[in-house]
Amino acid sequence: MENIDFDVIIIGAGIYGASMAYSLSKYGLKIVLIEKETPGGAGSSKYSGGIVRVYDEDESLIANNLAGLYEFANWNSIGYPGNSPFFQTGLLYLLKNESVIRAKEIIERSCSDETELIESEQLIDNFPFLKNHTGDYLLYEKNSGYADVRLTIKNLIEGYKSNGGLLLENCNVESAINNDGNWSVKTTFANLHSSVVVFTVGSSIRNFFPDLEVFTKSVPLTLISERETPFILPVIDEINNVFTRPLNGEFFFCGTPGKHINEFPEQLPKYSEIELEDVLSKISKVNGKNYSANVINGFNGHDSYTNDCRPIYQFHKIFKGAYYLSGMSGRGFKSSLAVSKKATKEIIEYLQISNELK
Ligand SMILES: Cc1cc2nc3c(=O)[nH]c(=O)nc-3n(C[C@H](O)[C@H](O)[C@H](O)COP(=O)(O)OP(=O)(O)OC[C@H]3O[C@@H](n4cnc5c(N)ncnc54)[C@H](O)[C@@H]3O)c2cc1C
Repeated sequence: MENIDFDVIIIGAGIYGASMAYSLSKYGLKIVLIEKETPGGAGSSKYSGGIVRVYDEDESLIANNLAGLYEFANWNSIGYPGNSPFFQTGLLYLLKNESVIRAKEIIERSCSDETELIESEQLIDNFPFLKNHTGDYLLYEKNSGYADVRLTIKNLIEGYKSNGGLLLENCNVESAINNDGNWSVKTTFANLHSSVVVFTVGSSIRNFFPDLEVFTKSVPLTLISERETPFILPVIDEINNVFTRPLNGEFFFCGTPGKHINEFPEQLPKYSEIELEDVLSKISKVNGKNYSANVINGFNGHDSYTNDCRPIYQFHKIFKGAYYLSGMSGRGFKSSLAVSKKATKEIIEYLQISNELK
């Protein structure tokens, strides 16, 4: 069996693996990115809505959201490869009355430059489909929007390859074994070695670290058509628990929060009539229309969640040289580029210190 040495091995090429690979490849390291299917063609990133927004009722997530929006909104000037995948359409939140006071405080402290709280009547002139909206306030983010997830990943992978990185696709990692900071990563045909392994395997993280407190939840998405659709910008409706995201022309995606929970994605049930009825009743409340004849497609995606729905990105406390990014809770796309920059900095520092010690 072939044995090959690398500086860094990255397992999993969803949005996190792709952005980690691109960002690390700028340091002249010998890197391999291994994906069991194709980049962005599996895991959560395959299904992601790609909404990029700032406000979150969990205030601890806002700093990464802001940093993520900055990366997407300045794709070309920052120097990311390829055409910008980002559509800066603006974005609306419909808030529950009881959450408005808290939202005001959060916005004032964390994101008043990007997020405006506006009385419903003022916005209904611009978004007449919200005439049935029952809340007092709407949040509007003029710089937010959504990105083409596939194009984002494709561009990052192209950039990574042109910086000299190796991509192994259709290649399953069978095991990753650590011997005091020397890693041996086994695929069917080769043993790959490095001092750092980045685990960006999404909901499969427990295959490598069974004790990690991460579980999987399904996130149903439904594709709907409407001639002259009002959903030309993402709408996050916290009152009816539904969100929309424009696709092309008359089509839009519509999603509800994740509900089925399991340890691994393979154990989740498929999209069913129950999800369909649920989303149709919710979306019909947003602008008072019945969408039952307009459904084009529906499927369940999945993501990895921690108990407190916070992302984890850090070196493993026990296994030297293992860095993992997981627990993205159905909302990890937006901050991926910014989080990967932070993770890259930590990994480069780790490599510098371990090289000095050698
Ligand atoms: C339906 C849905 C809608 C979403 N919408 C949004 C949104 O609008 N905005 C937002 O910010 N976030 C959104 N998210 C969340 C976001 O998409 C995820 O947080 C993000 O895609 C997670 O990316 P990842 O790279 O960590 O994991 P993944 O995309 O799951 O990638 C993991 C990769 O690892 C590979 N892999 C696993 N095991 C192995 C192995 N043994 N060997 C080799 N490869 C392996 C998998 O094949 C996969 O490609 C959504 C998620 C879902 C499911």
